[in-house]
Formats: sequence, structure tokens, C-alpha cells
Amino acid sequence: MKKGLIAINKYFKNAALFNQCEALRRAFAARGVEINAVPTADLGLRIEGESVRADLPPCDFCIFLDKDVNAALMLEKCGVKLFNGAEAIRLCDDKMLTFIALSGAGIRMPETVPAPLMYAENDDAAFLDKTAARLGFPVVVKKAYGSMGAGVFLAENREKMGEYFEKFRLFPHLYQKFIGRGGEDLRIVTVGGKVAAAMRRVNRGDFRSNIERGGTGERVLPTAAQIFIAERASGILKLDYAGVDILSDETGDYLCEVNSNAFFGGIARAAGIDVADAYAEEIYGKIYRGM
Ligand code: ADP
Repeated sequence: MKKGLIAINKYFKNAALFNQCEALRRAFAARGVEINAVPTADLGLRIEGESVRADLPPCDFCIFLDKDVNAALMLEKCGVKLFNGAEAIRLCDDKMLTFIALSGAGIRMPETVPAPLMYAENDDAAFLDKTAARLGFPVVVKKAYGSMGAGVFLAENREKMGEYFEKFRLFPHLYQKFIGRGGEDLRIVTVGGKVAAAMRRVNRGDFRSNIERGGTGERVLPTAAQIFIAERASGILKLDYAGVDILSDETGDYLCEVNSNAFFGGIARAAGIDVADAYAEEIYGKIYRGM
């Protein structure tokens, strides 16, 4: 019997994640592959003697829907083929690492200044003044790690920017030029590095267009320039599956972020595309047909 695992985070209870697992389970069942969803924390991952060990059910591959990079790396050390791979997840999880990895590849990104590493609650008005002069207001303040818009904020002026700095200075975060009118972006899902679905997300009540923050999605046909950004970013980051977010203004498009673990229920509905089936086909081809 062909078997696959889905690794999920044990402590993240979410209906979209549950639906994602079920959709993938059905898509694989249609191909004769049994899928077992397991919490990463229950895999018994450990260093034992000189090796990484795990208590793994039999599997030909693992769809890693957790973001625990250590666990992903350890599973790969145990010889498990992961979708997405550990390095791709690591690069996407940290928004600054993503931009650094994609720099120099012909992909325009919003002007971004990383906060310096701080060991104590220091002040640095000179850093903030310089960053404010470079990026203007309003300025976007983001935690390096975060999703569903939860770590993304807007500072309208220098005073607000200072307040965010005080809140976040001991955590990796960044300052970014505000692009467009706010509350609008394009989400493209790639599978196997190729565009599979796209939707325009609009949120009239918040500058963050995330569906989880009240945004709604509608099907769009991406332009050639947007397809280039999505496919080039997915290729460089070696993502089997990706959610690529693109911001636009009158001068063109900017890559906003790349998600290795994007939920696909919203875009599947908006674009009328069976993303689970496309992803299952991609994985099946790689594992069982050696493609
Ligand atoms: P998350 O991973 O939490 O979704 P994002 O970086 O994608 O974080 O930001 C969430 C949303 O906030 C984006 O989808 C977009 O609508 C808005 N946003 C993020 N960065 C900018 C920016 N530089 N300018 C304008 N809007 C932005």
C-alpha cells in the first residue's frame, strides 16, 4: 500500500488546516495513497547517540504543514522526503531571509530595512530617523515571523513608529515602504513552481488584505510580470507548493511575501481550482513516477 504522512502542529487548532488535510487526504485516496495526519510533536524526534531518530509510521513522503524547522530538518536527516523541504520552509518563515534569498534575481521588493539585533532594551533614535527618512509615512512594521497578518502593522508617523520599535526591539522585525492604496494584493499559488491559481484579495476595513483579517478573494488572471515573480520566487526558494503575495502600484508589481504553508481553501473557492488535487498530482509524480 502506498502511504504518505501529513505533519501538522499539535497546538494549532484551525478549521482551515483541518480542511486542508482532508482535501489532501481525499486527493491522495483517489490515487490509491493512504494519508496519515500526525502531529510533529508526537513523532518522537530526538538525537540519540550520534544520529537523529524518530518514531515514524511507514511513509513514502511527508507533506509538512507544520512550520517547525528543526523538526523538518530532523525528518530529512531520517531520510523522509518532505513537501515543502526544510530549507524552503526556513527561508519563507523569516520574511527577511526570504527577501535576502530572492535579492538579485530580477524580482522587485518593497524597500525594506531590517531592525538591528538588540540584546537589551536600547534606544536608537538615529536608526529610526534614518529609516523614516528613507521609507516615509505611513511605514509598514512587520515581525520577521508571523502569518495571517497578525504581525503586520502600520505606523502613521514617527511617534507611532517609535512605539512599535519599543514593543518589538528585542524581536526580529523590519520596516517597509507602504505600497499601493492598502487593503489590496494578489495571491498566486504555485504548484511544482508553476502558477496553479490566482486571486485578488481586497479588504475595505484594514490595510492587510489577508482573508483571516476580513479580506475577500476573487479570481483574476495574473499578468506575465506577476507570473514571472511567482514562478521565479518559487523556483529560487525550491518550493513544491507556495502562496506568493504581490503588491502593486502605478509603477508596477512588488513581491510582498512567500508562504510555504499557505492555506488553499480560500483560493480554491475563489479561483474555482482544485488546489489539493494539483498538489497531490505533483507529489505523486515526484514520488511514484520519478518525475
Ligand atoms: P503575513 O505573512 O502575516 O500575511 P504579509 O507580509 O503578507 O504578512 O502582510 C499581510 C498583508 O498586509 C499583505 O497581504 C498586504 O495586504 C499588507 N501589506 C504587507 N506589506 C505591505 C506593504 N509594504 N505595503 C502595503 N501593504 C502591505
